[in-house]
Amino acid sequence: MKIYIKTYGCQMNERDSEAVGALFTASGHTLTDNENSADVLLFNTCSVRDAAERKAKGKIGYMKKLKLRRPELIIGVMGCMAQRLGEQLLAELPHLDFVLGTGQIHQAVDAVEKIAAERKRFSNTIEAPEEIDMLGAHGSNSWSAQIAITRGCNRFCSYCIVPYVRGREMSRSLDSIMDEAKMLVDSGVKELLLLGQNVAAYGLNGDIRPPASGYSPFAELLEALNELPGLERIRYTSPYVSYFNDRLIAALAKCSKVCHNIHLPLQSGSDRILKAMNRQYTADSYREKVAQLREAIPDLTFSTDVIVGFPGEEESDFLLTRELMEEVGFEQAFIFKYSPRPGAKSALLANTVSEEEKLRRNNILLDDLERRIGKRIAGLVGSEQEILCEGVSARNSARWTGRTGTNFVVHFEPDTTVKPGDIRKVKVTRAGSVSLFGELI
Ligand code: SF4
Repeated sequence: MKIYIKTYGCQMNERDSEAVGALFTASGHTLTDNENSADVLLFNTCSVRDAAERKAKGKIGYMKKLKLRRPELIIGVMGCMAQRLGEQLLAELPHLDFVLGTGQIHQAVDAVEKIAAERKRFSNTIEAPEEIDMLGAHGSNSWSAQIAITRGCNRFCSYCIVPYVRGREMSRSLDSIMDEAKMLVDSGVKELLLLGQNVAAYGLNGDIRPPASGYSPFAELLEALNELPGLERIRYTSPYVSYFNDRLIAALAKCSKVCHNIHLPLQSGSDRILKAMNRQYTADSYREKVAQLREAIPDLTFSTDVIVGFPGEEESDFLLTRELMEEVGFEQAFIFKYSPRPGAKSALLANTVSEEEKLRRNNILLDDLERRIGKRIAGLVGSEQEILCEGVSARNSARWTGRTGTNFVVHFEPDTTVKPGDIRKVKVTRAGSVSLFGELI
């Protein structure tokens, strides 16, 4: 059968879709990008924001036309929205064949084959009791691959639905991650992206207290991966700020393959709002961690997530966020307008900030960011940078793109020897609005 998989939401979902796709190909099916000629349409959904759910539901609803024309078409929904709504989705979308929750996506091949044989609709959202065995499956090889090292989350930030739809935090064993990493590197992968809701809590068995300063299983994992011959770069996302203890910071500084870029969710610069969000740090403790990290790794760059318009956020709270963002000087930021998620604690709070005001605050932070990025990348003109070559630029086929370890994109004209995954040096010749241009040295 020809399988079409559409993914919504985060990198964890992309990784899950890749693994599901690999399971289908291993079972003799083929993957397709064409939804019109596919035999099976799978939607791997996200529930973190209302907009992501609406988008997925709209798309799945639209597929009713295809199903009317081709009744044998199989349509399934997986992932966080499937976990959250379960049977309700079958009731709302009569053309839908099956629903698989987050703990059951490794059953996707069986689900499709069962529907093809029996034509009996079903929903399965039982939580997986232990590490699910599909995590190691990968799609076609390239120079970069993602590895999920933890699943789920125990932190229960008041606005977030992840602990309810992805379940409790589980870490994979070091051995299984190392085996997967070795297999990937042997197949030509140069860069690994380690994924988890809170990667820095790796190996802590779900304990939500940040570990003592000398202990960090995540640091041990990074050190083990750093020794892997043939691997060039290690990235990770996302860590929770409180877990950056002395042990982890020392490992980050020491491991030469770990990229000097951290995505460090801030969410708010106001202690009052952080408390209401159930984030277990203050603006000052966040500042201190950034300072400690910068001291250990001077060229470290930071990106972040911020929510504007959380219930009760006053102008003064917003200004504290704006100030802290300026002070840290984030090189990238994902700014979200708060939207209540049914099931999350903050959904019970009155949504006190108007949509208009959320948009105003959102736009102010975006303008700040644009100005800051422009200044930051202009300062890199004339410098030499080491990049990992990614391939032909999407915008201009005469150019290639590469990325610095600090996560700046550099466009350059390739020579005849360059291959995706090569590490090369470039001299930066000019800055665009968000990326750089350079020449191979
Ligand atoms: S740390 Fe908080 S925001 Fe992140 S996944 Fe866990 S509950 Fe959600």
